[in-house]
Amino acid sequence: MNNSSDPGWRRIHNQSTVVDLHAHPAFNVSLFHRLLTSRIYPSSRAFDPFSVRTNFPRLKDGGVDVMLSVIHPPERGILEECPPLNLLRYLMPRNFRRIYGRPYFEVTIDMMDEMENAVKKGLDRGTGRPYAQFAHNREELEAILAQGDGRPVAFIHVVEGGHALDGKLENLETLARRGVAYLTLAHFFENEIVAPTYPWPENLQHFGWFSGERDLTHGLSQFGEQVVEKMVELGMLIDLSHSTPVARKRIYQIVGKRAPLIFTHVGAYEINPDPYNPQDWELHQIAESGGVVGVIFMNYWLMPRESGRGLNFITRTLQHFVQVAGIEHVGLGSDFDGFTDPPDDLKDASELPKLTQRLVVEGYKEEEIGKILGGNALRVLREGWG
Ligand SMILES: [Zn+2]
Repeated sequence: MNNSSDPGWRRIHNQSTVVDLHAHPAFNVSLFHRLLTSRIYPSSRAFDPFSVRTNFPRLKDGGVDVMLSVIHPPERGILEECPPLNLLRYLMPRNFRRIYGRPYFEVTIDMMDEMENAVKKGLDRGTGRPYAQFAHNREELEAILAQGDGRPVAFIHVVEGGHALDGKLENLETLARRGVAYLTLAHFFENEIVAPTYPWPENLQHFGWFSGERDLTHGLSQFGEQVVEKMVELGMLIDLSHSTPVARKRIYQIVGKRAPLIFTHVGAYEINPDPYNPQDWELHQIAESGGVVGVIFMNYWLMPRESGRGLNFITRTLQHFVQVAGIEHVGLGSDFDGFTDPPDDLKDASELPKLTQRLVVEGYKEEEIGKILGGNALRVLREGWG
């Protein structure tokens, strides 16, 4: 569209390939059996586990082209550290057994199947065309991206939390065959591979949730070293988000420049000094590996103080990543629908164009904005996946 009243930022947004490195539409499918096609779910302002921020209409409205769709089998440790969740045992007994009563790997595969079904069933009633389509490898991704206007959103499976492997290397191979592009090694609890940082920032009230200790001196296990090697061999990207700083340090040593390393959903330690966030020297490591760092859309990781509005925090963090890692190594990882609390001024995928508008105002060039919105993430997928 070459309408002169059409603001430049909207054109830039529409012409860019927008990639969200990390979001959880699968929770809405697997835990709550929600359709991803409905427009009626409200996207509320504050923390709301019942929000739907990444359903198909919202992804379309936000101009998202590629969605790295996170599969996270819920960890059993959460039942111990967050006692109210045990009520689910009685409120939804069948679902509870389905999620917590089986090996993590089985749950992971089921959630992947359910997500694929949701995508197959997701037809836009207006146009009759599919909203989305799964890409299981680079060729399928290119084929989707080569379609013209109105093309489906390319969905790619990714897995969060190494517990999903149940300690078996062959399960990693199965995930690679199923087209999983990356594994986030850690999550909230120590697993066979690696130890995590705290689930929430240490400076926040926890209200009795996640009361357990985390030992930040723990790093990558011996099995974890095997997993990392295997991932390099298989062409599965290694996501360092949630891993302890010691573990991350070891991974930089092991991988070096052999594969692009990624953080998919983090803030900057220099701005908010929490062990969850990568330090500047780590941003250099990511850049040297050819990888990418995705900024998370969640205030409490971005800034050491609370505020509802967070677009400023996102752009401030992006600016820091750009200054330290370089414009080629920055991306977006919203963490939408991961039981997270997004900023009030960027609360679901449909509002992503507001970020582009802000980047234009801040003086980024069109080419730079394209890289941040998804160009870099796409390059990493092309170079490091499969
Ligand atoms: Zn996460």
